[in-house]
Amino acid sequence: MNSRDIIEFDRRHIWHPYTSMTNPLPVYPVVSAEGVRITLEDGRELIDGMSSWWAAIHGYNHPVLNYAAQRQMADMSHVMFGGLTHRPAVDLASLLIDLSPEPLQKIFFSDSGSVSVEVAIKMAIQYWVSLGFPEKQKLLTIRSGYHGDTFTAMSVCDPVNGMHQMFKGLLPAHFFADIPECGYQDEWDEKDIHSMKMFLQRHHKEIAAIIMEPIVQGAGGMRFYSPHYVRRARELADEFGVLLILDEIATGFGRTGAMFACEKAGISPDIMCVGKALTGGYMSLAATLCTDEIAIGISSGDPGLFMHGPTFMANPLACSIASASIRLLASSPWKERVMAIEKQLKNGFAPCMEYPGVCDVRVLGAIGVIEMEKPVDMARMQKRFVKKGVWIRPFNKLVYTMPPYIIKEKELTQLITAMVDVVREEK
Ligand SMILES: *Cc1c(COP(=O)(O)O)cnc(C)c1O
Repeated sequence: MNSRDIIEFDRRHIWHPYTSMTNPLPVYPVVSAEGVRITLEDGRELIDGMSSWWAAIHGYNHPVLNYAAQRQMADMSHVMFGGLTHRPAVDLASLLIDLSPEPLQKIFFSDSGSVSVEVAIKMAIQYWVSLGFPEKQKLLTIRSGYHGDTFTAMSVCDPVNGMHQMFKGLLPAHFFADIPECGYQDEWDEKDIHSMKMFLQRHHKEIAAIIMEPIVQGAGGMRFYSPHYVRRARELADEFGVLLILDEIATGFGRTGAMFACEKAGISPDIMCVGKALTGGYMSLAATLCTDEIAIGISSGDPGLFMHGPTFMANPLACSIASASIRLLASSPWKERVMAIEKQLKNGFAPCMEYPGVCDVRVLGAIGVIEMEKPVDMARMQKRFVKKGVWIRPFNKLVYTMPPYIIKEKELTQLITAMVDVVREEK
C-alpha cells in the first residue's frame, strides 16, 4: 500500500473521532513520532502541540518508556486480574497512592478515562445504596464540562454542547450548575457558587455526588475557573452529605503546574479519576481512586462487592509503562518546565487579543487557548498548521495547545508563531 492507498482505505472504512463516514475530514498518515516531532508519510515533520490529547507529556518514543515496555513484555504482556495479581499493578498503585491526595487509598484500574468515570459514578451510587440511601442516584455537575463518551459519562457532559439532545430519553437527567464566572486568578465572588448551592439545598437527598473537572474544563470548552469554587464545592458536599468526584483525567500529572489540579484548591476528593497522561501517552489505562470510607462503605453493604471488572483490568504492560512514566516525571524538573511553557505562551499569545475575530486568550500551566468569536473551519485551519510544520487541532471556536513538557523554547516559539499567524489570517 502506498500513501494514497492508505488514505483511500481509511476514508472508506475507518471511523475517526467525531467524524462522518460519508463526508470524512482529511487525515494525515503518520509513520513515526519522536520527542516533540510527528513524522508524516511524505516526510514532513510536525511539532506536536497536542500531546496526543493531553497524554504524551514526555514526548514520543521515549527510551525510558520504551525500555519499560520491552522489559515487561519479556515477562508477560497481560494476565487476567481476577484471582491473580502482579508487581506492575502493585508498583503503580503504590506510586499513585503516594502521589495523590492523602485520603485516597484504594484504587480501581480500568482501560480508559470514560470507564474510570463510569466506575467513579458507580462507586458513589453503590456507596449510598450500601449505607441505606438508595434514593441518592443523581449527580450534580457544572455546565460546559466533559467526562467522556460512554453513556453515564455523557450524561454529565455539557447538556448543550454534549449529546443530550440526540440521546434524549436514554440519558438520565442530572443537575447542572451554572458555569463559574470567576476566572483562575479573579477575586472570589461567593455568587459564583450560588447555583450549585441551590441544587444542593433543593435536591441533596437524591444527589449521590458532585462530579467536576477541577479548575480546568477540557473538551467542554477549555475554561479555567477559580480554585475557590473547588474549595466551596468540597465544603458544600460535606455540608449536604454528598460525595465529591474530581475528574483529573486531563489535569492530572502536572499539566496545570500542580501534580493534580485539586492541590491548587488545597482539597481532596472522595473519588478521583486519572487517565490520559497516566502512561505518558503510550497505552490506554485509567484509574479511579477512592478513600477508605468509600471502599469500606461499598464493601459493607449488599452484595458487599464492587460490581465492575474489565477484561484488561490492570494490564501489566500498561501498568509498567505508567510506573516508568510517573518516575520519569518525578525525576524531571516538570514544574519548571510547565512554568516556562506558561510564561512563553502568555507572552507569545499576548498580541492575539487585538486581532479581529479573537474573543479571548487564556493560559494556565502548559495549556494555551485562543478562543475565536466564531467556529473555525477545522480542516482548512489544520491544513495551514501542517503547512507551517506544527500539529494543532482546533475544535469549534477554540484554537489551543497543550504541548509535551519537554518542548524546547525554540520549538514552542515555532508553535506559537504558527498559531498567532494562522489566527491573525483568520477573519
Ligand atoms: C478525555 C477525558 C475523559 C475521557 O477519557 P477517554 O480516555 O477518552 O475515555 C474524561 N474526562 C476528562 C476530563 C477528559 O479530558
